[in-house]
Amino acid sequence: MTNLKKTLKSERVKVGKETVIENYNNYLENRKKSQKDVDVDKLKEELKEIKKYSIENLDELKRKTIKNLKEQNIQVFEAKDAKEARKIALKLIPKGKKVVKSKSNVVNEICLERELLKRNEFTETDCGDFIIQITEEKECHPVSPAIHIPLEKITETIKEKFKAKLPNDPAKITHWIRDYIKKKIFEADIGITGANVLSADGGIFILENEGNISLVSRLPKKHIIITSIDKIVPRTEDAVKICKAAAIWGSGVPLPTYINVISSLSRTADVQKNLIWGMYGPEEVSVILIDNGRSEMIKEGFTELLECINCGACLFPCPIYRNILDKYGFHYFGGRGVGMTVFQQGLKEGFKNGLYYCTTCELCKQNCPMDIDIPKVIKELRKRAVKNNLETETNSKMMDNIRTSGNPFGEDVKEGEIPDKLYCC
Ligand code: SF4
Ligand code: SF4
Repeated sequence: MTNLKKTLKSERVKVGKETVIENYNNYLENRKKSQKDVDVDKLKEELKEIKKYSIENLDELKRKTIKNLKEQNIQVFEAKDAKEARKIALKLIPKGKKVVKSKSNVVNEICLERELLKRNEFTETDCGDFIIQITEEKECHPVSPAIHIPLEKITETIKEKFKAKLPNDPAKITHWIRDYIKKKIFEADIGITGANVLSADGGIFILENEGNISLVSRLPKKHIIITSIDKIVPRTEDAVKICKAAAIWGSGVPLPTYINVISSLSRTADVQKNLIWGMYGPEEVSVILIDNGRSEMIKEGFTELLECINCGACLFPCPIYRNILDKYGFHYFGGRGVGMTVFQQGLKEGFKNGLYYCTTCELCKQNCPMDIDIPKVIKELRKRAVKNNLETETNSKMMDNIRTSGNPFGEDVKEGEIPDKLYCC
C-alpha cells in the first residue's frame, strides 16, 4: 500500500477529517458574525498594502525594528537558517533548565523542540500542542494543532504517562491539562514564544486565547521570542490590523482573547526616578529573527508566500487538506505550506510533500484574507519541478501519451468514448 493510501485509511486522518468537516460550518458562521461591523473589502485592501510595503522595504524596516528593540534592552539575534537559529537558541538556554513554550509555527519550523527534549525539561503550554507532545503525534493545523487526535487516545496517554484516570470528556481533559501546565509554567526558568507581528516602531505582538502566553512571557526569568522577518510591518497601527484579521480568519472571533504587546524589558523608576530594568516581568528578553529561505522567496518573485498571516483559513475548505491533513505540506500545511517547503527544505521535499496534490480549485484563495493566489504559486513551482525531472508517474505518462498518441489517454479514444484511465496534470 502506498504511503498516501495508508494515510487516507489511518484513524487519525479519519478523526481529523470528521472534526474539520463538523467544525467548518460553525467556523464559517462565526467568521461571518465576527465580520459584522467590519468593512471586509477595505480591511483586506489595507492588509495587502501593509504586507506589500513591508516586503518591499524589508531591509530598512528590519534595521529599524532591531534598533528600537535594542534601545529598550531587548537582545536581538539574526539567523539565516534553521540551524543557526537553533544554535543561538541553545546558547541562550543552558542545559538542565526548565523550559516552557507556547504555540509557534516558527519554533516548529526550526525543530528546536527535538534538541531541547535531549537536554532540558521541556513542556508545551498550548493545550493542543501539549496533546501533540504527549501523544508523540504531529500537529496538523496552525490554530488547532490536535484536532485529529481522538479523545480516547488523549485519555489513554494521560493515564499511561501521568497515572491520571480521566473520562473521555473534553472539559475534564482540558481542566486536567490546564492544572498540570500551570504548575510547569510557575516552575520554569525560560519561556519561549513566537510572535504574530513585529512593528518597526518597536512592538512585539503575540495573540492568544488560552492565557498561557501571558504567563510564559511574564513569569520565567528569561523570555526568548523566535520569529521570522516576514512578520515585520511599519507601525503599531498596521500590527493591530493584522491582529484583527488573524482573529477573524483564524478563530472566527472579532478579537483574540488577549493581545500581548512587548516593547521593552519590564521597568520602574519609582525609587527616586532611577530607571531600573527587570521588575515583575523577565530579567532578560531576546528575539531571534530568522530568514530561513524568505529572502530567496523575495528574490525569486514568490513574495505572496510571505504575505500570509498564518490564520489557517485556507486549510478547512481545501479538498486535499481535508483528506490528508498534515501530509499536505511539511512544517506549514496546505498549498502555501508546500510553497514554504520548497524554499525551506528544497524542491524535492516540496515534491514529496504534495506539490502535485493541488487541484488548483482556488478555494484557498477565495477564503484567504490576503487573497494569496496559492494555485498560481503551485503552478510556477511545478514548472520548476518539471525542469528538474520531478514529475509524478501519471503526469509523465500523460505527457508521453500526448507525444505518442496526440491525446492524454494514450489510446485511440473515439469521441464520446470513456477511456480506461483518466489522467490529469
Ligand atoms: S487550489 Fe490547491 S491548495 Fe488551494 S484549496 Fe484547491 S486543492 Fe487546496
Ligand atoms: S494563505 Fe491566506 S488563508 Fe492561508 S494561512 Fe495564509 S493568510 Fe491565512
